[in-house]
Amino acid sequence: MSMHSLIDRIVAELLAQGRAAAAGQSPLTAADTDPALVPVGVSNRHVHLSRPDMDALFGPGSVLTRMKAMKQPGQYAATETVTLRGPKGEIGKVRVLGPLRKETQIEVSVADGFALGIKPPMRMSGKLDGSAGLTVVGPAGSVTKDAGVIVALRHIHMRPEDAVRLGVKNGDSVDVVVSGPRGGVMHNVAIRSDEVSATEMHIDVEEANAFGLTNDALVRVRKV
Ligand SMILES: [Zn+2]
Repeated sequence: MSMHSLIDRIVAELLAQGRAAAAGQSPLTAADTDPALVPVGVSNRHVHLSRPDMDALFGPGSVLTRMKAMKQPGQYAATETVTLRGPKGEIGKVRVLGPLRKETQIEVSVADGFALGIKPPMRMSGKLDGSAGLTVVGPAGSVTKDAGVIVALRHIHMRPEDAVRLGVKNGDSVDVVVSGPRGGVMHNVAIRSDEVSATEMHIDVEEANAFGLTNDALVRVRKV
């Protein structure tokens, strides 16, 4: 191969990569070149369990069975599911996410709250004081929680160096611009910057549907 045709081939390859990134076919490549472009992760209703609640629901000393790794390092979907029982209704086959946590936390959508007959507050993960209660039913028993049910506030996970590149820090609020037929701007999106994290915007199913978003779609962070 001549030097010219080799150079032509390299140039063509680079151009193709650039086009793929611009078309959003390769989220990681695009996010690498533009730190403001962030892939979406859509969270369906799910449960994080404490050790005592795991014991009560699945039997003493039971352990979660890893089914699928989540993007956030160390987090995974388990094969185990539970039923949520509220004063007005039940929702079955609700996924348990691992690993176990200090406190049980149940994350549902606003519509799930209506179906269950409870009014969970919109909260950041871990802020459970005064949150809604519910009965959780597992194969070995059930637990009734006075608190622990929330509608998770949308947020973006990123590593500290990416936050620096964007000029934001942990706890900041940003806007997120969504393109497409249901495009728009999401305000009040919290930045959660942590060494152990993968860049990803977490929204729930209702937010995703309202903006026409699916997993790995790219959205643009706009500093406010
Ligand atoms: Zn998250």
